[in-house]
Amino acid sequence: MPLRLYNTMSAKVEEFRPLQDNEVRMYSCGPTVYDYGHIGNFRTFVAVDILRRFLRQSGYEVRHVENITDVDDKIIRNSAREGVSVKQYTAKYEKAFLEDSATLNIEQPVLVRATDHIQEMANFIAELEKKGFAYRAEDGSYYFRIAKFPAYGKLSKKDFAGMEDGARVDVDEYEKDNARDFALWKAPKPGEASWDSPIGRGRPGWHIECSVMSMLELGESFDLHAGGEDLIFPHHENEIAQSEALTGKPFAHFWFHARFLLVEGEKMSKSAGNFFTIRDLVLKGHKPSSIRLLLASVPYRNQLNFTFDGLKQAASNVDKLRNFQLRLTTSQFSPGSSPEMQQLANESAARMKAALEDDLNTAQAQAAIFEMVRKANVAIDAGQIKHDDARSLLDALEKFDEIFAVLKDDDTLKMQSILQWAKEQGRESDISADLKEIVGAQTISDDEVQKKIGEIEAARAARDFKRSDAIRAELNAAGIMVEITKDGVRWRRK
Ligand code: AMP
Ligand code: ZN
Repeated sequence: MPLRLYNTMSAKVEEFRPLQDNEVRMYSCGPTVYDYGHIGNFRTFVAVDILRRFLRQSGYEVRHVENITDVDDKIIRNSAREGVSVKQYTAKYEKAFLEDSATLNIEQPVLVRATDHIQEMANFIAELEKKGFAYRAEDGSYYFRIAKFPAYGKLSKKDFAGMEDGARVDVDEYEKDNARDFALWKAPKPGEASWDSPIGRGRPGWHIECSVMSMLELGESFDLHAGGEDLIFPHHENEIAQSEALTGKPFAHFWFHARFLLVEGEKMSKSAGNFFTIRDLVLKGHKPSSIRLLLASVPYRNQLNFTFDGLKQAASNVDKLRNFQLRLTTSQFSPGSSPEMQQLANESAARMKAALEDDLNTAQAQAAIFEMVRKANVAIDAGQIKHDDARSLLDALEKFDEIFAVLKDDDTLKMQSILQWAKEQGRESDISADLKEIVGAQTISDDEVQKKIGEIEAARAARDFKRSDAIRAELNAAGIMVEITKDGVRWRRK
């Protein structure tokens, strides 16, 4: 079956096929780097990452471009408040965004910065003016004339008939039901960053950057454009107006929007005290892998209610997957294969694929793999798994992990570097005892653990179970899980 995706433009689930050959050209709206990214932002970025990974798993070549908005109203306001340049202000948050993305195993797209494309934006606006879609105001700002673009509203399904011609709005984000000629270029104001350009001195509006950079990197028409649902209007509506007015061609073929996330059932906000960055959660002792699994646990178009109970559950689910993988790779199985286990592995992989092809139903894909793990664990306990079965089950698990990316056990290292960052920021008081314990566990080296495992084996061989239990408890306190199986003693970091 081909992939089916919901297209905000048609308001239907459609079969997804690239416009050209086997290559998918996709663009997603990236962060505005004026602060640390919160879990809402990262819900959307993880959803886009799942899409991109699944497209690749489905055999497509993916060219994925994402912008970094490093100049906008908020950035200008905040950098002026701190008395630093826009560049100095944004560099810190851009770096944080890259680190947080890596923390969540989000694959890096081709990243393009707004401030690196100011001249192209000015040229684009000049072309729009030539075609009558843009006009210059007395102060040197430029606006898009929406009355000249009758399709305005086609993405957000808003009817703007009867709107006031020539009414203008300066800010990048504005009232949702009010169409106004929006700013393409803003004349310089004292104390604000501005650039020289063929259309005069000033700075670009927010919407123009995505039209210009997406077309520059992907062509006038490309396959898919993504972002959070808040971007449908005005941001994406404006992108369509600017781009299609200029080229006369359809801009993006598919429009992909992730639903906003709630925290403990409420809209996330700083004032409600339920606002969390990725770093906040790690400082509380939550592992990046559990955050990622939870963010991906609900299909992107459904409401995800982020709760701490959910996060705990996700952590135990990650453990289940890692333990299962460890069990399969470290146990000895007799040669051959069994039809039941072959069927279980194949069916689970097929169910996972079918779920993802169904508008990226990540919940069902996760359910398929957990059911496989549960059944296979029972079979291992009963000695019903053969060598080739283990291989097939591991293959299915790997297919899962190509999309969900939670198996690699590098949480502690990532948490260590966030702890270090918090110290540098003077945020010691935010570092939880849980995080300290997890990170402290890393201080025992693999060699030392191995030595202790040797002592456990020796104690057990001498039937000194008291001693073997004591060493186990000691390792446990240092964050090492020790499992005694009939095939020997195994260990891993918690
Ligand atoms: P921003 O940095 O505000 O430009 O947002 C970056 C991305 O995060 C955009 O695609 C937004 O639509 C998305 N986003 C912002 N808040 C949330 C939220 N609460 N839930 C899901 N996505 C969000
Ligand atoms: Zn954008």
